[in-house]
Amino acid sequence: DAEVVLVGRSNVGKSTLMRELTGHSFETGGSPGVTTEPNHYDWTSEDFLITDLPGFGFMSGVPEDVRERIKTDVVRYIEENAGKILVGVLVVDGKAVIDIIDRHSGEREVPHDVEMFGFLQELGIPAVVAVNKMDKVDDRDERLDELAERLGLYPPWQQFDETLAPISAKRGSIGPLEAAVRHHLHEQQRDDL
Ligand code: GDP
Repeated sequence: DAEVVLVGRSNVGKSTLMRELTGHSFETGGSPGVTTEPNHYDWTSEDFLITDLPGFGFMSGVPEDVRERIKTDVVRYIEENAGKILVGVLVVDGKAVIDIIDRHSGEREVPHDVEMFGFLQELGIPAVVAVNKMDKVDDRDERLDELAERLGLYPPWQQFDETLAPISAKRGSIGPLEAAVRHHLHEQQRDDL
């Protein structure tokens, strides 16, 4: 079945977003590292599966080797299923993402979010970045421009509204994400004709 996957660091609001997209309830704010298997659900308004992959990155109380294994599993899942994954949604915390990326940028280090964005593209999977928690961000356009730049996209961010989708899962404002995902789905259906 055609599939949309959701990836992201722990605590970015993936469970909250899943609830909005599927109508199912998910444990939010639960212990990190709890979701360790891919979970498949129907996207209520569309005809495909949405797969929630385990959150990766720092999680307090979760040892380094477990975190590494989770990330390896996520990467492997995406590689093995690349042929049927229509869109990869990378969920980030709009309030924290720039600081996190900058803190982990170095000569020998690529931040998880940047790495995952590049990885999806390498596999030919259209990537949409769901920039969540925008309700907490005041300098919206500035923040989104900074993120675009970190991802190798040239500001202004509005040029990439099929790639950058500012949302607030908690408030149920996810229109830009639905629009971006639909854009890629329709584009691929057109290519298939
Ligand atoms: P997950 O670990 O990625 O599944 O994240 P959760 O969905 O459990 O959310 C982590 C925390 O972020 C919870 O306290 C949520 O209430 C909060 N959260 C999720 N989405 C939003 C949002 O859009 N805005 C704000 N302000 N908080 C959010």
